Amino acid sequence: MQHNKTTEDLVVIGAGPGGYPAAFHAADIGMSVTLIDTEPNPGGVCLYRGCIPTKTLLHVSEVIREAMNAKKTGVTFQPPDIDIDMIRKWKDGIVEKLTGGLGRLTKQRNIRMINGRAKFIDSNSVEIIKNDGTVENVVFKNAIIATGSHPAPFPDLFFETPRIMDSSEALELKDIPEKLLIIGGGYIGLEIGTIYSTLGSEVTIVEMMPDILPGADSDLIRIYSQSARKIFSAILTNTTVEKIDNTNEEVSVKMKLNDGKIHEAKFDKVLITIGRKPNSDNLGLENTAVVTDKNGFIKVNDKLQTDDPKIYAIGDVVGGAMLAHKATHEGRTAVEVISGKDVEFKPKAIPAVLFTDPEISWCGLTETEAKLKNINIGVGRFPWAASGRSVSLGRSDGMTKVIVDPETEKILGLGIVGPNAGELIAEGALAIEAGLRVSDLKKTIHPHPTLSETLMEAAEVFSGECVHIYKPQKK
Ligand code: FAD
Repeated sequence: MQHNKTTEDLVVIGAGPGGYPAAFHAADIGMSVTLIDTEPNPGGVCLYRGCIPTKTLLHVSEVIREAMNAKKTGVTFQPPDIDIDMIRKWKDGIVEKLTGGLGRLTKQRNIRMINGRAKFIDSNSVEIIKNDGTVENVVFKNAIIATGSHPAPFPDLFFETPRIMDSSEALELKDIPEKLLIIGGGYIGLEIGTIYSTLGSEVTIVEMMPDILPGADSDLIRIYSQSARKIFSAILTNTTVEKIDNTNEEVSVKMKLNDGKIHEAKFDKVLITIGRKPNSDNLGLENTAVVTDKNGFIKVNDKLQTDDPKIYAIGDVVGGAMLAHKATHEGRTAVEVISGKDVEFKPKAIPAVLFTDPEISWCGLTETEAKLKNINIGVGRFPWAASGRSVSLGRSDGMTKVIVDPETEKILGLGIVGPNAGELIAEGALAIEAGLRVSDLKKTIHPHPTLSETLMEAAEVFSGECVHIYKPQKK
């Protein structure tokens, strides 16, 4: 049944961590809002198939690893009894709880949530094919596209089999394969690989680049790799997958190794995590003035405006750091711009976190980037072997470094590897956004004994006067 609705102040397409906070903020400041998603509740990839399911399952693996590592402290646990069905239920329950909560917050704000797929008819209206098959048109004063992204498919893979998974399928946790190959050594592959390895799979990681986790500094990766080598049965860098063949029994994979030799190996399952593609197809963008780049990412300016004056775009679909918190902040900026504020999305620091064991996090300028752009920097590195808290946790496999402008002594970047690095990085992001100097970090009293002290001590190292290091060398 076709039915035309009256004009909404704002239509948001996609209810992920970009779209739903944008819709919530718009409703809070008095706009009438329609939020459209195929899922029953807000959450998007992040809650249904991304951040939350991975972190829930990584918590389960952390519990297992902590218990197994407790032996050195004098406490011995029995090897774990893994009930895969219960773990899956636990994970699904967390997702349901969080997305259900967002559903309630949507109703409380009087936001109209429509479950269906939206498409632009023109620059003023969308058509929604609802999940129940009916069709509705909504006219808008402004629209925000927050349709996110999907896993990039492996090129020339002509068959589909449950033995080859993308990240969404892997997180369904149907079984624990004996041998799992992960193609792609980015954060998604490493996090899901950690989960499967702790639950009992023999996991091989293949990465075509010279190192895993492209984008992160090599000193952080080096420390993480010591533990990663114990978690994974092999990490093959500079290696490309040439061919994947599937039989009913297993998957046969031909790889070109670092030394140019071809290696063939068999796996029970293969997980492909080679990047993500924007959801900009089938949106009816051809009926608007919205422009995409050659990879399908929607082009926006710093105000998140597309080339169509009433249409904005945020989150994964515009590219850049494809992370939930970046999408959320873009969403707020877009709504503020729509409401008439003169604001732009120009962050100095978007934190990135690898939630493995140990974790890696960084924000602001990296050393790799500084080298590439020929930016003069000074670095203070504090090894966690000198941190009382870290040693008391039995975990000295960490390091915190502060990257500083040597002229002004302003903090430009921060890098951390170690347990809880993901929690610690927020202080660095605040320091960079606030334009703080290394002396501010040094002078701030941090509670003892905590891992947060390592930020203060990295600042002390930079200044050449760290209590827990004898004669620290400035770099
Ligand atoms: P999405 O979350 O992708 O949401 C888009 C929504 O739009 C979807 O619900 C989709 O159904 C809907 N949609 C699409 N097209 C239409 C249409 N035509 N009509 C109606 N609805 C439509 N990020 C982090 O910051 N931290 C993490 O720890 C983290 N872990 C991750 C782990 C995994 C395995 C994956 C895959 C991603 C992870 N991410 C993480 C990335 C994060 O999930 C994304 O950056 C984030 O979800 C992007 O938000 P978004 O709002 O742009 O889009």
